Amino acid sequence: MRRADARGEITALKTVKRKSRAKAEFVLTNEVLLEAAKRKAGVIEARIISPADVVTAAWVKMKCRFGCDGYGQCLVCPPFTPTAEEMRRVLDGYRRAILIHFRPRAAVARAIAGLEREIFLKGAWKAFGLEAGPCPFCRTCPVEEGWCRHPELARPAMEACGIDVFSTVKKAGFPIDVVRTRRQVPDYYGLILVD
Ligand code: SF4
Repeated sequence: MRRADARGEITALKTVKRKSRAKAEFVLTNEVLLEAAKRKAGVIEARIISPADVVTAAWVKMKCRFGCDGYGQCLVCPPFTPTAEEMRRVLDGYRRAILIHFRPRAAVARAIAGLEREIFLKGAWKAFGLEAGPCPFCRTCPVEEGWCRHPELARPAMEACGIDVFSTVKKAGFPIDVVRTRRQVPDYYGLILVD
């Protein structure tokens, strides 16, 4: 083989390798993530956001500590969850997140746990889900024992980790409002930190 031909072959091989490496790196496109999210039961809408746009604030856990009858009753609620400062550092370790709007009475916790696992299995090894409200999986949480009965399902809610859900959701262009009466239907949101 002439030297010029050999050089051409090596260049072609390098191009093929570069292309297949790029393909492997972009398997989890935003479109793939959004399709996976929208397939989950109870999902109204999902958007890719930057974790830098997730708002954290120290006041959020005051709302848990004073005024919520679930405080200390569950292993995925305060005081067992990260502070706003810790959560900020966690968020800063990610570049993409999926913010998901759920229908009222949707099984948010189960959908988020399922989606976290699905995305993890697609190659996002850092995938972590944040749910909404108290943990629904046991009648009574064994807080004194300190271990969770369903670690594959139970994840903290955004607000339990010092995330200002109202500001985060509004920033992403989703609807949310203060619930003023018992007849008013609240908006529920979940978050998956992807990679
Ligand atoms: S799954 Fe059960 S044990 Fe685990 S945090 Fe939720 S209520 Fe507690």
